[in-house]
Amino acid sequence: MSKLLLHACCAPCTTYVHRWLVENDFEVEGLFYNPNLRPESEYQKRAATMQTYATEVGLKVYYESDDQPTEPEHCEQCYRRRLEKTAKMAGRNKYDYFSTTLLISPYQKHALLKKVGEEVAEEYGVPFYYRDFREGYYESRRLAQAMQLYRQKYCGCKPKEEKMKGEKHAQIGQFAQ
Ligand code: SF4
Repeated sequence: MSKLLLHACCAPCTTYVHRWLVENDFEVEGLFYNPNLRPESEYQKRAATMQTYATEVGLKVYYESDDQPTEPEHCEQCYRRRLEKTAKMAGRNKYDYFSTTLLISPYQKHALLKKVGEEVAEEYGVPFYYRDFREGYYESRRLAQAMQLYRQKYCGCKPKEEKMKGEKHAQIGQFAQ
């Protein structure tokens, strides 16, 4: 059984990815590290939802935050920051792989995410477990709804700021479907 540290962007996206990994013989632990989330109340809401989900399914999740929240930026930097933290922790604690629930979202820049994951893996010496989880996106919404988990309507930057940045940001306006 391989041990995998899963970067968790939010509980709804974690549902399907976590279930799939467990069903495919991975020993999974989660890392909730999302300094991109705006505003603070939204961060707290998603972290609390993650705790509810993790308790319900028995998933161990670590919560990391930065003293200084990061400003909204390009998605590539945003992916890199979160995956670097995950890879660093995975390397330090002898996990076999790291991965991210962002791979389930059809609204993220999937190819870019894969590229960043592979670059970070090279840098930190821990393999990035890549799989196109997008097939499970609607199932993840169903699972989240069944568990009555909060489902946000945008990725992480304030929606207003996302609009201003245009196509530089992941176009995520319809999360809660
Ligand atoms: S849209 Fe999402 S991934 Fe892109 S910069 Fe904003 S929070 Fe990060």
